[in-house]
Amino acid sequence: AQTPLPVASASGVRLRLRDGRELIDGMSSWWCAIHGYRHPVIDAALREQLQDMAHVMLGGLTHEPVVALATRLAALAPAGLEHVFFADSGSVAVEVAIKLCLQYQRAIGCPGRRRLITVRGGYHGDTLGAMSLCDPVDGMHSQFAGTVAPQVFADRPPATWDESYARHLSDVVARHADEAAAVVVEPVVQGAGGMHFYAPEIVSLLRALCDEHGLLLVLDEIATGFGRTGRLWAADHAGVTPDVMCVGKALTGGYMSLAATLCAPHVGHAIDGGETGAFLHGPTFMGNPLACSAALASLDVLTSGDWRADVARIENGLAAGLGPARSLEGVRDVRTLGAIGVVQLSEPVDVASVTRVAVEHGVWLRPFRDLIYTMPPYVTGDEDLERITTAIVAAAGA
Ligand code: PLP
Repeated sequence: AQTPLPVASASGVRLRLRDGRELIDGMSSWWCAIHGYRHPVIDAALREQLQDMAHVMLGGLTHEPVVALATRLAALAPAGLEHVFFADSGSVAVEVAIKLCLQYQRAIGCPGRRRLITVRGGYHGDTLGAMSLCDPVDGMHSQFAGTVAPQVFADRPPATWDESYARHLSDVVARHADEAAAVVVEPVVQGAGGMHFYAPEIVSLLRALCDEHGLLLVLDEIATGFGRTGRLWAADHAGVTPDVMCVGKALTGGYMSLAATLCAPHVGHAIDGGETGAFLHGPTFMGNPLACSAALASLDVLTSGDWRADVARIENGLAAGLGPARSLEGVRDVRTLGAIGVVQLSEPVDVASVTRVAVEHGVWLRPFRDLIYTMPPYVTGDEDLERITTAIVAAAGA
């Protein structure tokens, strides 16, 4: 196994290693440090919050950061997602989404609707419920056979609209609607399941199918939310409002673990009016004040700055810088969307060799499967971006 590189500190888009080397971070620490490291506004917000309290339980007590953040998120989310439930991580936010859907169907008198419909090639996290929605082959369901819930999988959505795929998807949803509570997908971009971009019209089709069959639509925006794809939400590419939406990762600007599951009033009200009278989930660190302060500060930075221009600039830089990889032997595809740039090889990558080449170029990359990719912080300047794309092309050609 590769020896991990010890990081001593990080600021802006640079990681400083203990031995003094500096690396430009092409990964945003698994896609969450959208404003870079040690952002003065977020640092200050955390220091200020520490003067009041780091944490207090959210049961029977409440506090300003959590109320403010719930209000902010509801205002930023696609219209109608008014209820916000805070969770500790993306995976837990997906568990919360699943439980919301199951409790909703039970509350409206459909307790038999317990399965979930999704598509192949997805990734939703590593806890058991989230895992059940990950691609059944790549998600290694066989290792946990008998424990991972058997969900319904349609094929992976194609990059461009395709009538025969639309028929397949419609057929899968229609066939399983009576036993299903919801459709759960990552909108437009499938991240850890293969950095695959698909036609936004498929998200619109799923919205229509869910309405037709009485299913809830859950969009997992944990990787795509907060501007990564060039729109605030990937769902905006399709103009779709889901019934339930998960956010995480960039929510705190990558400062600490916090995620949220938002839902429409009809979901929340049905559960409140159901046999339990409440949603059955209550994590210890729910709505942690310190994490909520980081999130509020990160949203301030995002909404007061020009992230749209930055992401568009990065999209152009990635397209121009990664283009030359197309002609390399062993490169199967090069694709970009927003601040996501992907070089897909014909064979699995040699992680150690790609890492070495990238580090020699002063860049941090973490490839997986057949993918060398970058999701840099939005504040990455043009020169640094060029170093990232040069490193990727060099690694792909090595
Ligand atoms: N959903 C999506 C789309 C993700 O990309 C991820 C993480 O990569 C998760 C859920 C899980 O989030 P976490 O790692 O915070 O549990």
